[in-house]
Amino acid sequence: TVRVRFAPSPTGSLHVGGARTALFNYLYAKKMGGKFVLRVEDTDQARSTRASEDSMVADLKWLGLDWDEGPDVGGPCGPYRQSERGEIYKALAEKLVASGHVYPCFCTDEELEAMKAEAEEKKLPPKYMGKWATASEAEVKEMMDKGVPFTYRFRVPEGERIEIDDMVRGKVGWDTNTLGDFVVLRSNGMPVYNFCVAVDDATMGITHVLRAEEHLPNTLRQALVYNALGFPLPTFAHMSLILAPDRSKLSKRHGATSVGQFKDEGYLSKTMVNYLSLLGWNDGTEQEIYEKAELEKLFSVERINKSPAVFDKVKLNWMNGQHLRLLPDADVEALVGEALVASDLLKESSGATVQAIIPLIKESIELVEDAVPQVQAMFEFPLKENMGDDAMKKVLDDDFEPIVDAIVKAHASGELAAAVKEGTVKQFINATGKALDRKGKRLFMPFRIALTGRMQGPDVGEVLTLLDKAAGSSDKIVSLD
Ligand code: GLU
Repeated sequence: TVRVRFAPSPTGSLHVGGARTALFNYLYAKKMGGKFVLRVEDTDQARSTRASEDSMVADLKWLGLDWDEGPDVGGPCGPYRQSERGEIYKALAEKLVASGHVYPCFCTDEELEAMKAEAEEKKLPPKYMGKWATASEAEVKEMMDKGVPFTYRFRVPEGERIEIDDMVRGKVGWDTNTLGDFVVLRSNGMPVYNFCVAVDDATMGITHVLRAEEHLPNTLRQALVYNALGFPLPTFAHMSLILAPDRSKLSKRHGATSVGQFKDEGYLSKTMVNYLSLLGWNDGTEQEIYEKAELEKLFSVERINKSPAVFDKVKLNWMNGQHLRLLPDADVEALVGEALVASDLLKESSGATVQAIIPLIKESIELVEDAVPQVQAMFEFPLKENMGDDAMKKVLDDDFEPIVDAIVKAHASGELAAAVKEGTVKQFINATGKALDRKGKRLFMPFRIALTGRMQGPDVGEVLTLLDKAAGSSDKIVSLD
């Protein structure tokens, strides 16, 4: 069966790129009826923290990417934190010593520096050229007996070609001559990253390695370790970069880049899953809105794109609006109600007022938060104030004053409130238009702006009806009475 893994280094928060990697692995496992493993790559003790691991786990759970095996749920191939697998690395390093693939190296840092300098001077590749690759057993034993610290170095075979058939990139190969003997275990016993990854993938029975393109160069060392251990190579799929719209590297200056930030900004988890799934993948149709369950059936590694994906916030926002509209009304009510209470516009997060608001805003919001300014505009009944942007002023210049006067008068006389109560707001607007000799946009736009402070939005009559209904549920509502 297929076994895939997501292997984050817990040195920060879960970013868009990592989340996409996790999602593709998860989807592939689901599609193939396989297992999804979470492995925490915390060998870099200086940079790894448990807080980072916890936040990544929380974000993965928020996305609904449940794993079958991992540090928290356990499993047959544990432990699932590299920091807890020291024994395994040591045992396998020793096994490789016995088979001659790995040898102890007693070179000091000074010696290694000198070698590097010499190679540079002679314009040779920076390879290990020390004596320990070919030292005799007696020489090694002597140093061991003296207790001289040593590293374990991997003996890179000469003149071989390592080739993989990457599911995304096709055939990729390396000459082993480009690589010097590399350290797999440091003198303090700490294993080196590429060794851990290969040992873990091999011992955890990982069949497919789906990961970011930036790890492609690591594959050579990992493949050598695999070969030495006598394990067949997994199938690799290296996914392309995710770029910002200006095609630079996606970074903080493009706004949120971590999944947690998107969560805090009010994006739905469904939206994130859908959006991430399309970063470098499509099902070959024009469809763009997917539920997770659908993706679990449709996903295929063969359709992962080789060219970089572009992270487009405008599209993400649009998609969130689409998913909001697909939610059951009760869910939207709960989300919007909470946002309105949090921004002090409503006293109660549920009830008749929120229910009356939903149909007025549902079609036009992309983020739940968008409801706040829209409802604010309705509640605060700005009349003359808030004459926002230039486009508004253009409408207002010649048409505004007489209409506002008429509204203010009708408000003062109770005529407006009566119209609302009787459901005759339309008639009232038409009558005003008749009296002032204007109709169509020249009539409705100033009405809308006068009553809501905005150029777009729900029907003015409905807004007024809402205000009447909602009186008492907010301190912000301008009373019609
Ligand atoms: N730990 C690596 C990272 O967080 C992933 C390694 C891998 O997938 O092979 O980038």
